[in-house]
Amino acid sequence: MICPVCNALSPLEVSCPQCGSAAEDEGRWSDWSGPYSPYEPTLFAMENAFPSTAETVCQHAVRCVDCQHPFTADISAWHV
Ligand SMILES: [Zn+2]
Ligand SMILES: [Zn+2]
Repeated sequence: MICPVCNALSPLEVSCPQCGSAAEDEGRWSDWSGPYSPYEPTLFAMENAFPSTAETVCQHAVRCVDCQHPFTADISAWHV
């Protein structure tokens, strides 16, 4: 399974939940948070608890270019 957005195969196309403008990809949520983030100390434990979700969805951190609202988008991975 590969993420089409991480691999530049497909553009990220999500709309801001606040204003509806196009939002910009800021990278994988896990990369963005960083391995040393104090907010996600149980990332590995979570992936182990939900292996199917971790395999099929790549969570991206995105930010609205208009109102700067940050949110996350779950990108469905492609089967190759
Ligand atoms: Zn991705
Ligand atoms: Zn917005």
